[in-house]
Amino acid sequence: MSGLLFQNIEKKFGSVVAAREVNLHLPHGKFVCFLGPSGCGKTTLLRLVAGLETPSQGRILLDDEDITRTPAHKRNFGMVFQSLALFPHLSVGENVAYSLRIRKIDKATQRQRIAELLDLVQLSGLVDRHISQLSGGQRQRVAIARALAIEPRLFLLDEPLSALDAKLREEMQLELRMLQQRLGITTILVTHDQREAMTMSDLVVVMGPDNRVHQIGSPLEIYRNPSDTFVADFIGTSNLIECTCTGAKEVQVGDTLLEVAEMPAGVSRGTPVILSVRPESIHVLPFIEKGKNRFHGRVAFVRDVGSSVEIYLDCDGLPLTSQSTPKGRPDVAQGDDATAVLPPESCIVLKS
Ligand code: ATP
Repeated sequence: MSGLLFQNIEKKFGSVVAAREVNLHLPHGKFVCFLGPSGCGKTTLLRLVAGLETPSQGRILLDDEDITRTPAHKRNFGMVFQSLALFPHLSVGENVAYSLRIRKIDKATQRQRIAELLDLVQLSGLVDRHISQLSGGQRQRVAIARALAIEPRLFLLDEPLSALDAKLREEMQLELRMLQQRLGITTILVTHDQREAMTMSDLVVVMGPDNRVHQIGSPLEIYRNPSDTFVADFIGTSNLIECTCTGAKEVQVGDTLLEVAEMPAGVSRGTPVILSVRPESIHVLPFIEKGKNRFHGRVAFVRDVGSSVEIYLDCDGLPLTSQSTPKGRPDVAQGDDATAVLPPESCIVLKS
């Protein structure tokens, strides 16, 4: 099978299980993010790919070749760490050429490659500058150029943008994504920032606090169809409502019946389930309206942040959050009676 394959990977450090039962297929040319909260095993998984750790169990294959025990320096992968690990006493050009020098590439080829790479990361003209004379974003680009110098088979990034301020970070995210698309290089980025993962990736691998992979899919698939309550809560925000299955496509919460998109396999009448509904899917009516998929309540708070409006409802003790654009803003104020409408197609049922 072409691409990177994890077969039943487990990594233990003494009694700590850093990654368990990881089975993944990452096709070539994709931008993949390993996403999850601190300690879920993202970095460990990346280090296993890089050859900086060996798994306690399982195999890693690249294009059918078993690389589980191939030493890191023989894998030909490019890596950028959070610390960047640039050589401060060397110039930009010398940093970028480092791995070429080790590989004893001739000087003329080195010069040409440095020029190409600096052009690629928009640092032409800074070849003789010292690392200490660069801005955070420029250092970032040097680290990227240095990792790409060897024309790696895989490009691995461990939270390289986390030290940058918010604006520069967003600029670098865009630059990195465009660079990856131009080169078509298979890239894995470790991040705990769900916005970063959602905006940059073709594929997101969501890992949970139990050090397992919970879901792999495109950002939209994961957002629209989270596999469980952890993913629904970790990716964006979600209204999670405890309810009971009452029919093939129906659940009940208190006296309210709700038609849902579909019922997960293995859930029968009477089974407790969790309903996940995104805030932007909930419509608020400025009056009481009875019927299916409707909750009556009172507006507890309105938060208007300019680009969006959030309405917090208290529906007889059930808190619901709705989000709308300024144009679609419901005509309600704090303390008003209101109805929350949850469209069936946006009601995702998860096993509890
Ligand atoms: P973060 O976002 O905080 O970097 P992470 O998801 O990348 O977290 P890992 O660094 O992969 O998580 O760590 C996973 C688990 O393995 C943690 O409990 C961590 O303490 C443990 N761990 C990682 N490396 C080692 C090690 N060398 N020795 C012992 N335990 C380790």
